[in-house]
Amino acid sequence: MRSRRSIELYPDVPDERWDDWRWQLSHRLASVAELARVVALDDSERAALQTEGLFRVDITPYLASLIDPHDRACPIRAQVIPTMREAEAFEGLRSDSLAEAAHTVAPGLVHRYSDRVLMLVTTECASYCRFCTRSRIVGKRGENLGPEQHEAQLRYIAAHPEVRDVLLSGGDPLLLHDRVLERLLGRLRAIEHVEVIRIGTRVPFFLPQRITATLAAILARHQPLWLNVHVNHPRELTPEVAVAHARLADAGVPLGAQTVLMAGINDCPNVMLALVRELVRQRVRPYYLYQCDLVRGAGHFRTPIATGVEIMEALRGHTSGYAVPTFVVDAPDGGGKIPVAPQYLLSMSDERAVLRTFAGMLTTYEQPPGYRPHDRSTCAACAAARPTGVAALLQGRGETSRPAPRHEERQPT
Ligand SMILES: *Cc1c(COP(=O)(O)O)cnc(C)c1O
Repeated sequence: MRSRRSIELYPDVPDERWDDWRWQLSHRLASVAELARVVALDDSERAALQTEGLFRVDITPYLASLIDPHDRACPIRAQVIPTMREAEAFEGLRSDSLAEAAHTVAPGLVHRYSDRVLMLVTTECASYCRFCTRSRIVGKRGENLGPEQHEAQLRYIAAHPEVRDVLLSGGDPLLLHDRVLERLLGRLRAIEHVEVIRIGTRVPFFLPQRITATLAAILARHQPLWLNVHVNHPRELTPEVAVAHARLADAGVPLGAQTVLMAGINDCPNVMLALVRELVRQRVRPYYLYQCDLVRGAGHFRTPIATGVEIMEALRGHTSGYAVPTFVVDAPDGGGKIPVAPQYLLSMSDERAVLRTFAGMLTTYEQPPGYRPHDRSTCAACAAARPTGVAALLQGRGETSRPAPRHEERQPT
């Protein structure tokens, strides 16, 4: 499947090469000369492409063919071609904005929450997002997370029975070759307490050719496995991507989506509405909408948190609930994801709650008289649980005014 633009840019490349993901990876564009063929680069882009030390650039021919050469504000262009604005410092800038290093328990293994871990399995991506939250490790050649690191990660997971959910990320896990991925998934599946595997990926949008029938079958063999795709703009949803999503969904792989909210790219309620509707049509459930992290290079993409709240207001109630993601701010310095939403609960007494609807109507909900609260003292599920965080505070346990928990404090004892 070829677009007219891809044939215009690569007239001599036969379809079977174009459709081969390895060809796409080995023909990525990175230099001024290569990219000037695709789009009229401006001075800031030219300067950035020639600046030492900026985050890696590498753009698959497929992705390059999606860039609109006539649209200076093309949302694909802005996500992958650097400008000198990346070099701008800003208040709050961090190189590790989520303090992942402080929660790293083995090479590339981040254990922040009690029952799940983030497992970085490679530093390679198919193309590099200018706003990468993990640019401190991603894209660095020669610093790949390989088999040796995977072994150390698997050892930690095997030794920690509280880990029931393993989230593979990187880099992009789907850039691992079939055999490597299959082995890794097999090893995880062999750990009895690992109930759920998740994969975070941008491959469907940067390199849809990688979503082969063989790959879909490998993923399907390791269920329960959820695939979460990172997509930011409706223009990323090409016919090739629709085929890739259908192949995964038909294989029985449940699909979720995450989106980073960015100035000039998708900070428009109607663009976001178009994106989430089309995702649901393609059997992909919008999961998170992220506030842009305070990471080096991403300053010019940031929006006020108010922008996200306004977008959520435009989604909830106005389209299928399935299409509405949760807007989250990932706490700077590593406290975890914080959901942020418009206020719907306006006030409350023992008798009544005052709420407002998406349409702006005020309503009251009569509270049930004589409700007898759940009795934790006679509940087997509660007897076995150890509440932490604010859930514990509500029960009169735990401490107030704590800093973000350090890793050791989160471990059940
Ligand atoms: C986002 C994230 C997770 C997964 O969080 P969910 O809310 O369960 O999707 C796990 N670990 C880390 C370090 C994360 O950043």
